[in-house]
Amino acid sequence: MAEQILRGIPVSSGVAIGKTYFLNRGSNTSIVRMDIDPQDVAEEKNRLHSAFTSALVELEKISEKIPGELKEQAAIIDSHIMLLKDKKFQSASKKYIQDKLINAEWALEKAVSDIEKAFSKIEDEYIRERIHDVRLVADRVKKQLYGKPSDIKSFKQRMILLASDLSPADTIELQLDKIMAFATTSGGKTSHAGIIARSLQIPAIVGIEGLAEIQDGQFVILDGFNGKIIVDPGEEQLAHYTELKYQFENYQSQVNRNCYLPAETIDGYKVKVSANIELFEEVAAVIDNGGEGVGLYRTEYSYLNRDDLPTEEELFEEYRDLSSIIYPEKIIIRTLDLGADKIATQFGPTREANPALGLRAIRFCRKHPELFKTQLRAILRASVLGNISIMFPMISGLQELLEVKKLYYQVRGELKSQGVNFDPFMPMGIMIELPSAVLISDMLAREVDFFSIGTNDLIQYSLGIDRTNKHVSYLYQPLHPAILRSIKYVVDAGHEAGIEVSLCGEVASDPYCIPILMGMQIDSISLNPQAIPGIKRIIRQATMDECKNLLKRVLESDDVQESNRLVKEMIFTRFPEELMFYTSLIED
Ligand code: PEP
Ligand code: MG
Repeated sequence: MAEQILRGIPVSSGVAIGKTYFLNRGSNTSIVRMDIDPQDVAEEKNRLHSAFTSALVELEKISEKIPGELKEQAAIIDSHIMLLKDKKFQSASKKYIQDKLINAEWALEKAVSDIEKAFSKIEDEYIRERIHDVRLVADRVKKQLYGKPSDIKSFKQRMILLASDLSPADTIELQLDKIMAFATTSGGKTSHAGIIARSLQIPAIVGIEGLAEIQDGQFVILDGFNGKIIVDPGEEQLAHYTELKYQFENYQSQVNRNCYLPAETIDGYKVKVSANIELFEEVAAVIDNGGEGVGLYRTEYSYLNRDDLPTEEELFEEYRDLSSIIYPEKIIIRTLDLGADKIATQFGPTREANPALGLRAIRFCRKHPELFKTQLRAILRASVLGNISIMFPMISGLQELLEVKKLYYQVRGELKSQGVNFDPFMPMGIMIELPSAVLISDMLAREVDFFSIGTNDLIQYSLGIDRTNKHVSYLYQPLHPAILRSIKYVVDAGHEAGIEVSLCGEVASDPYCIPILMGMQIDSISLNPQAIPGIKRIIRQATMDECKNLLKRVLESDDVQESNRLVKEMIFTRFPEELMFYTSLIED
């Protein structure tokens, strides 16, 4: 068969050569109508009945685990339970099986569409909107009908995983002894699935069309540098990629040798290079790759993939252990950034029209103060070694920050009166990831000990592009003048106020962007552990003068393409060997 090439967005470097497996193929393809024989009607009805029952059992379990304070979520789950128990819904679907001799999935779809039609005529908007709940419930039943073809456990060899979508929660569950790389149809340059792939050190591509056409077990090459899947590769491609894979492994071991050297330019400017981690287990990679502490611990991952909420004790132990492993280096613990694509199932189904603009991060925490306070207590109790800092995500305004601080000091007061020890000098910082926070960074700087610029979100919110949407991925431009001015504004405002400014978005692991950040005199960067050795090496070979010079030229440019060209030119001429093995946020 002739080789075929599919293209997407490269998000994690490396090459994988092997066979494919498409995850949950059934539930991701659109539902098809299948005619059944009259003698199969009873069995098809039974299948539907069992799917309703399993969905009900699943929801009842979730309902039991919802904490008392989350009344709204509990009410939604209860309404879904009622819908599942409603005999009319099930019998309408069964009637379709019987009358039309069709499969259960198609019958369910017909029943939902009847309800949709009926609801659309209702004038009351609230009731009309409940159709959304019917859809969610039907999806649950559908999932049961398809079953979960997660036979990954039985793989005899490591496979290349294909999926239409992988949530951050799915991604952290990937079994690395079974999966060597993945590609998804959805996703953008800084989707969390890609971020996790880099942490796991497996090649990955997102936003790629045509995956579902690849047969399970088909032989492919996944090129995580250029975002390509080559299906049924010929001899020549195979030889090329086998060599590239070898060179990459060689490069990694070579660059790793010097990873403990400081990131200091030839002319003596030092940048602190720390690591972003999502999971406790990654702490070993921080140390192995020469990370100078943890600059961002994304704590929300401890809340995903479980039925209940972590207790204060569990969180305390997790943070305490992390801080002692990393000691004497420092760790910045970011408070929960749940919401948007990181959904904790304990809160039931969410139904926000614009989740990235909704109850996310600090807003979610303020809506659930008990949950937030549990985390704050755990962080404070773990802080006794003196190397933990606390950081709040997605701060949008001064008033909001003051409210959060009030709650934080209230928790401190409670601990103090209970005689519980904590570090009274624990530094407190915020993420700057909203345009509003950039513009008032001078005001915010007076209230905190440090800033950390989250470019993943700052680019999303400044340029108005969903970071998980491949269709607008081409607009995800780190060197857009608005982004560069924003970063510079924040660095200058922070320095003016005498506080440290760090940057922890994916831009920090992009070799093209590093000289620009250096030119701005950023104090520290935080990036995925595996990228640390290479980025440190670039910094060590650069001079502050050339970085400032490049920054000046880029800031003067009003053309992103020209800026991209300028940064590439510098990197290509000065550090060519570093480039072969990096994915970049900068467009070609
Ligand atoms: C960011 O927004 O740049 C960031 C580091 O946080 P996250 O990717 O977790 O949103
Ligand atoms: Mg963010």
